[in-house]
Amino acid sequence: MKYQKSLFQAALLLALGLAGPHAQAQTKAKPKAKATPAAPDNMQQFVTSLMQKMTPEEKIGQLNLLAVGFDVTGPTVSKDVDANIRKGLVGGVLNTYTPVAARKLQELAVRESRLHIPLILGYDVIHGHRTIFPIPLGLAASWDLDAMERSARIAAEESAADGINWVYSPMVDIARDPRWGRVAEGAGEDPYLGARIAEAMVRGYQGPTNDLSRPENVMACLKHFALYGAAEAGRDYNTTDMSRQRMYNEYLPPYKAAVAAGVGSVMSSFNDVNGIPATANKWLLTDLLRNQWGFTGFVATDYTAINEMEAHGMGDEKKVSELALKAGADMDMVGEVFLKQLATNLKEGTVSQADIDQACRRVLEAKYRLGLFQDPYRGVTEARAKATMMKPAFIADARDITRRTLVLLKNERQTLPLKNTVNIAVVGPLADRAPDMIGNWSAAGDGKQAVSILQGIKNVGGAGVRVTYTQGVNVTDDDQLIKRLNQYGGEGYQLAIDPRPAETTIAEAVRAAQSADVVVAVVGESHGMTGEAASRADIGLPGRQLDLLKALKATGKPLVVVLVNGRPLTLPWESQNADAILETWFGGTQAGNAVADALFGVYNPSGKLTMTFPQSVGQIPIYYNHKSTGRPYGGVALDKYKSRYLDISNDPLYPFGYGLSYTTFSYSKPTVSQASLRPGQDLNVTVTVQNTGPVDGAEVAQLYLRDLVGSSTRPVKELKGFQKVTLKKGESRQLTFHLSADDLKFYNDDLKFLAEPGEFQVMVGGNSRDVQMASFTLTQ
Ligand code: BGC
Repeated sequence: MKYQKSLFQAALLLALGLAGPHAQAQTKAKPKAKATPAAPDNMQQFVTSLMQKMTPEEKIGQLNLLAVGFDVTGPTVSKDVDANIRKGLVGGVLNTYTPVAARKLQELAVRESRLHIPLILGYDVIHGHRTIFPIPLGLAASWDLDAMERSARIAAEESAADGINWVYSPMVDIARDPRWGRVAEGAGEDPYLGARIAEAMVRGYQGPTNDLSRPENVMACLKHFALYGAAEAGRDYNTTDMSRQRMYNEYLPPYKAAVAAGVGSVMSSFNDVNGIPATANKWLLTDLLRNQWGFTGFVATDYTAINEMEAHGMGDEKKVSELALKAGADMDMVGEVFLKQLATNLKEGTVSQADIDQACRRVLEAKYRLGLFQDPYRGVTEARAKATMMKPAFIADARDITRRTLVLLKNERQTLPLKNTVNIAVVGPLADRAPDMIGNWSAAGDGKQAVSILQGIKNVGGAGVRVTYTQGVNVTDDDQLIKRLNQYGGEGYQLAIDPRPAETTIAEAVRAAQSADVVVAVVGESHGMTGEAASRADIGLPGRQLDLLKALKATGKPLVVVLVNGRPLTLPWESQNADAILETWFGGTQAGNAVADALFGVYNPSGKLTMTFPQSVGQIPIYYNHKSTGRPYGGVALDKYKSRYLDISNDPLYPFGYGLSYTTFSYSKPTVSQASLRPGQDLNVTVTVQNTGPVDGAEVAQLYLRDLVGSSTRPVKELKGFQKVTLKKGESRQLTFHLSADDLKFYNDDLKFLAEPGEFQVMVGGNSRDVQMASFTLTQ
């Protein structure tokens, strides 16, 4: 491997005319020394020299990103890849991994293409690579930034060892519509929390010092830029249209935070933004991203997004090619439009050589930052891969991290934790489903290696626990849906469909319940019911699952509902009738063990929702940081003309920030360090939290702010801080939240970021609904 590396370097440097003393020092004097990350000056010089050797076709080739190997998303797998790589017409490839496969491709580029330019190798590493963590919506529910960063770190180490150098994460799209299947991939509805998570994930992937040349780091790709989460009606790929003010205040902060954290690349989204598809949106990709936010990396489109602009109605292929490049898209994912059209665009003068050069330079700079010109293989060997993938420390971390994401939604009469002497009926279509546990976008994860919840209960419950299992009902009985899920699920992920009538299988489950002390019903969505192109109009439990729960309830046995799902669900009956409800998302490789740790009280749940659970689909979009309106909702009474429904209250089923514990916490009234603040001054808010219940536990204390008077209407509350604290039984702790001058600011109607004088309320509590308040005034 070393031999190939120095051969490659020498060839490249010779080709560039740079094989001077510097090159020799690297290859001869200290062959084993690790290359120090080169300064940007060297990068500029290096890329300029390289580009001087490149033909116009080769430059366009760098903008071409192809899919090879594992076609997880789109209808197309690229053709003639090898030949095109040899001709220098491919800049990068997605979906290829393993040391052998990655090396094979890279060798084609660095040995057989004229200028030996290495490929950038991307993949959808979203919540783990081989060790799979909970889906991002679950990770967010931990409110534990260190845990999330750790999950990204492990994903980086595994994917880098598997030949990947570029991951399509974090997905930071704010989403307020749980019908959209992709809410599973993001952090939920809140811009402040979303921004902190975006930063943590970028750090995790790109490393604590953001040194991408280190072989264990990978380049992150921020997606989907922008506003993909606001797709109308929660229907995937749909239109988004919103005021700039709403964008700046409510939707853009996580993208901006990731850029500030140094994310190396950005993916443009499929949707249009106020009439212009994101991929052709110059305001978005250049004015905002580069000129306002200072982004210096490269922009890749989403999968065939340039081609799709024809269906958007933006023109023919030649036109959309021009639009995308001119807007600031640098790399064309899979669509090969740039490859086919840019030469013509150039000839006809609709794009300039400078436009192409700029995009090419950005792609080459990314490769330079990744150290690919030093070592195109980034030290990938089979031995390294073997020692890294799913190593015991990663599996232990996965179990620990997964436990932190579980949200206890209900627990009457201390139904949970279960005693380890019980006789349990484990029932439900998601109970014995290891493959579903790893959820959607599970990269190179293997569902067969995941721990099902049934298995976890057996593992953790131990010898004193008797477990009887029966599926009860199918996850869905919709034949069309079953066909589709099976078609896209792939081998090993086929649904377990019991052909018998639901009445028969429910009766079987009832018999199991009758002879048990407690029923654990594991219900929800199969992994294919969430993610891309998986919007649902009805977000209750699919199929006959509710009928199963009703029949189990009628046995009179305590009913514990364990939810496996990728979005907020409507659960009106369940929330009324279950004795306990534990939200477990798709928990990843260690799901079953982590869930069982919580069920048996080995771990005390501490997660909190980051997306509001509605009572009914009719309330969507529903989110905690809404505006007041001129006729604010005043509760359930129907006596006034208020902003409300006739048939249902405005209240969510479970509010943002909500989650219980096996212990209880009390909060003191918050106090502010000063009642009156001058512009630019900071403020401290202090509160005492006490563990008032029977066991140790962790609590997420949340701080919300309301700006009572503004030149624009302001949300009724906005999260501005949170702290996750572990308190022993009986212990209290004083927490201080720091509010900076910027925390009081918002983008006004002229998009100026400022704080306006007047009264503010500051609220602290264990969720967005149950808070206590203090106030202060910002003076002129
Ligand atoms: C998705 C992206 C993903 C890409 C590459 C697209 O369909 O929208 O999130 O990164 O495919 O697989």
